[in-house]
Order: sequence, then C-alpha cells, then structure tokens
Amino acid sequence: MDQSTLPPHVLIFPLPLQGPVNSMFKLAELLCLSGFHITFLVTDHIHTRLLKYSNIQSRFERYPGFQLETISDGLPEDHPRSGNGLMEMFDSLKTKNKILFKDLLTSGKLNLDSRRPVTCIIADGIMGYTCDVANDVGIPIIFVRTISACCLWVFFCLPKLIESGELPFSVDNDLDTPIKSIPGMESFFRRRDLPSFCRSGNLWDPSLQLYLPESTENPRAYGLIINTFDDLEGPILAQIRTLCPNLYTIGPLHSHLKYKLSVDSSSPLTSSNSLWKEDTSCITWLDSQPSKSVIYVSFGSLAVMTKEQYMEFWYGLVNSGSRFLWVIRPDSVTNNSSEIPLELSEGTKERGYIVEWAPQEEVLAHNAVGGFLTHSGWNSTLESVIEGVPMICWPYFLDQQVNSRFVGEVWKLGLDMKDTCDRLIIEKTVRELMDGRKDEFMNRADQMKKLAKQCLSEGGSSYCNLERLIKDIKDM
Ligand code: UDP
Repeated sequence: MDQSTLPPHVLIFPLPLQGPVNSMFKLAELLCLSGFHITFLVTDHIHTRLLKYSNIQSRFERYPGFQLETISDGLPEDHPRSGNGLMEMFDSLKTKNKILFKDLLTSGKLNLDSRRPVTCIIADGIMGYTCDVANDVGIPIIFVRTISACCLWVFFCLPKLIESGELPFSVDNDLDTPIKSIPGMESFFRRRDLPSFCRSGNLWDPSLQLYLPESTENPRAYGLIINTFDDLEGPILAQIRTLCPNLYTIGPLHSHLKYKLSVDSSSPLTSSNSLWKEDTSCITWLDSQPSKSVIYVSFGSLAVMTKEQYMEFWYGLVNSGSRFLWVIRPDSVTNNSSEIPLELSEGTKERGYIVEWAPQEEVLAHNAVGGFLTHSGWNSTLESVIEGVPMICWPYFLDQQVNSRFVGEVWKLGLDMKDTCDRLIIEKTVRELMDGRKDEFMNRADQMKKLAKQCLSEGGSSYCNLERLIKDIKDM
C-alpha cells in the first residue's frame, strides 16, 4: 500500500490523571473527526479503570483509525496515585516510563500496514522526557497543557521569582504580600496565589524542582496546545507567546467536541472518560429541584481533606440553607470513621444529595445548578465557565491556587475561599453566591459563557486554531 496516501498518524500520550486523560480523549475524538489515525497511549492503571467505568470502547468503535495502546507507569497497581503519592508517580514516569516509551516507538509495534508510522506525537508538556525520545527517534512533537495558561505562566516565571528573591519565603511570613515579578500579574497576585508548593520555603522541594524547568522545556516542542480560549486568557497568552510563539488555544476542549459532533454528525453527545463509576441518580434528583437552586460541590479526582475539614464543609452547607449536590469520593476524606451527627444527616435528607462520583459535565449543564463549590481544577473550571455557573473556590494544590485567584479577582466569576475552612465562612460564602450576589455573578458567568461559545463557533479563535493545528499536522 502506498502509505503516503494515508492520513497522519498521531500518538497522543496524556498525563495519567483523570483531568488530562479526559480532555485528551476529547482532542483525540476531534482529530478522529478529521480522519486522522490516532494511537492513544495510557498507562496500565488508567486502562484498567477506563475499561471498567467509561464508555470509550463503544464510543471509539465508529472511528476505525483509533487504537488504544498501554504502557506501564512503573508503579505497583495498588500505589495511591493521588494526594501525596503524586510526586512518586512523576518520578517513576521520568525514570522508568522514558525507556518504555522509546521501546514502544522503536519496536515497530505501532506500524501496521494500514497506517503510517507515527507522524506526530502529542504529549503532556510536564513529561518533558517525551521530547528527548521524540528527538531521538526523529518524530515531531507538540506539547499539550491541560492546566490554565495563567498557571503555566506562573510556572514559566519560577526562575524569575527566585532571581528577584520573592522565592523562597517562609510560611510564617505574610501570605498577602504582593508578588511583583510575574509580568502581567503585578497588580493582583499574592504569595497565597502561587502554586501550593511555593509555600514549602525550600528551593529543593520536589514539586518546585519538577516545575522549575517549564520555561525551557516547553519551547523545545514544535508547538504548544493549551486547553483554554483567547477571550478568557488573552493577556496571559500574549506573555506565554514571548517564549512559545506557536500556541494552539483550542479550548474548552469538551465543548469544542460537543460543538463539532452537533454540527458534523448526528452522533450522541454523551461521552464518559471517567475513572470512577458515575452515579447518574443525582440527575434524577436534580430534575426535581427548582431552577438554579442547587450548589454542586466537588473537589475533583485528587484532592483529599481531613475529617475536620469535611465536617466544616458539611455544617457550612447544611447551615447555608441552600440545596446541595456533593461528590465525596471513597478516598477523599482521611481517617473518616466516626458517626455523622444527626443534624447533618437530617439536613442532608431535606436539601442535599451525596454521590461518590457524578457525571459532572451533565450536572453543570443542568438547569437546577446555580453554583459550583470547586477545588478549582482546570477542567472543572472550564466546565463551569462554559455552562455559565458561578464558582466558590477552595483550591487544594498546584495550579488550583492560581486558578482560584483568576476566578475571583480577574474574571469575577465567583468567590475565592482559599486558606479558610470554617463552617461560618462556608455558610456565608454559599449564601453570598447563591443568594446575596447571585445576579451579579450570574451576569458575569453568562457573559463569559457567550464568549466561550463564540470562540468555538465557525471563525472563532478556538475553531480557527484547531483548523491550523490539523493543517500543521497534515504538513508534517
Ligand atoms: N469529574 C467527574 N465527576 C466527578 C468529579 C469530577 O466526572 O464527580 C471530572 C470533571 O468533570 C473533570 C475531572 O473529573 O473533567 C477533574 O479534573 P480537574 O482538572 O477539575 O481536577 P483534578 O481531578 O485533576 O484535580
């Protein structure tokens, strides 16, 4: 077969975590719609969970050019790849996965007659070693980032923060001290808004060391795909372009795919890339709640909280008088053993609903949902923005501290509650978002939702950037 007549063959390798895997499946499907051949590479751990809980197998059956491939992350199956165990995963990827990744690309295993050898790699930019491998084997690589541009820019500026003496600082020092050496953020950014690892007071902190090379690692790739849209992060994207001129901002990816599916075909719109079993009974519960009356509470797939924090949230939610839908993953509360006070279970019975994992996109799109108490993970933030749902932010770690500052102070899409966890504050903040300042936040959220939708429709920035990405990959 004359292989030059075949479509491009793209290998997509997401960071093995729920958020990145989810959004990379959306990108994979967008590229499948353009007729590309895709090899989607996931770790064994992710693969097992996907087969158990998601509908990827049936969903991708209609794309004959799609294939799923697996690789080890080098960790034992029972390793907790969340909370504090996350850094071990990054270490293991860098040391063990690098070799396996190169073996896979040179083994010939991916070279079937019916498809070209891999013509382009799209890998998460935090796995910088994939660029070394791509260079070794002579395949062009495009990095993808599933975090916000504002957080990526903070990562890029870490060396500057150290040079200027703004890092390290001791945790006993005032966290409200302004940060001045991040261009574009001088007027509103504080120590407490930096990624959580900056609080360690230690330049050798493993997370800081992981993110420190970002400003030199990312520009090594042919280009950088970011899951964001220009109307949301334009000024920060201009800063990033000074180091990475070839940016493809094609987000919000999940809505981009929905939009393309609705325009291009009559395909069903529901897609699940979940690593947990979705409890859809919460949708039935939402169906019986009044419009915009429910605050949806979820802290994503990785955040954990102490029993004390859990109790403060529960009291705060019940005492706020608002209806609430709360996702509590089985592993999300540490040392969670004792009995639940009666007033909480009674209050929840009346106005609340708790599930272990929700179909979040569907929940946020539901008419009954009027607010989102979130850990400010980037996917959750974008999913909220596109549905016009105002947020209360309680960031847990990494990029979430940055995102929540932008939500509260720059985009004015909600309230940033970072570094507090007190039942009275939670109660007051929920009342403010769901009642006192409801119209103000709803209007802002509505405006941003409109801008996001415009970016995705024909001629919009995300729409055009995806076209350009497709053309550039074809030309490779
Ligand atoms: N999510 C979900 N159901 C839940 C909670 C989360 O489907 O009950 C999804 C959510 O839609 C998002 C992802 O999990 O796509 C979480 O990604 P995010 O970047 O927000 O946070 P992370 O889990 O990486 O901290």
